[in-house]
Amino acid sequence: MYTVLDHPLVHHRVALLRDRETPSKLFRELVNEITEFLAYEALRDIRMREIDIETPVAKTKGQRVDEPRIILIPILRAGMGMLDAMLHILPYAKVGVLGMQRNEETAEPVPYYAKVPPAKDGEELALVIDPMLATGGSACDAVAQLKKLGYRRIKFLNLIAAPEGIARFEREHPDVPVFTAAKDERLNSHFYIVPGLGDAGDRIFGTL
Ligand code: URA
Repeated sequence: MYTVLDHPLVHHRVALLRDRETPSKLFRELVNEITEFLAYEALRDIRMREIDIETPVAKTKGQRVDEPRIILIPILRAGMGMLDAMLHILPYAKVGVLGMQRNEETAEPVPYYAKVPPAKDGEELALVIDPMLATGGSACDAVAQLKKLGYRRIKFLNLIAAPEGIARFEREHPDVPVFTAAKDERLNSHFYIVPGLGDAGDRIFGTL
């Protein structure tokens, strides 16, 4: 199952993000803003509990988030660009990190680092973040690693997705919902998303 954010304020930011003239500072700000919209959508169905409140005027009921363990999982390196925004929305979340380098010929992921707390009871909510869902290799591998660690409730948030990546992800992990700000046309022969935005990591970190 995948959801493409359909909102004028998201479209506006995605257009700026794609522009090759957008400098890193603005690019990072846009990544933050779009990530907050993604989180807003992806967290719609999180667990809540009813609480009693007393306002200065009357007693009433309210709701509080009831998710004691949310784990954010940025895929290195570009996923780090989405982390601040996620922590802004979810300040008590824990962070696990997965390092994955892509083999430039096959575009398949080569895992080189993993520091993720093991799941305690499968009730944790793991939110995997990576800006580009291109071939789907890294995303699928990341989710497979999390499942091996015992995670059962996983969502994947990204900025731009290729149809090829979405198809692979849905084939390998049909139980994990995907949230994206834009679904693009295709991959090119270098496995870049078209029209995309280029290399997300380079644009976030200014290493062009
Ligand atoms: N990774 C990127 O940063 N950009 C793409 O277009 C594909 C993968």
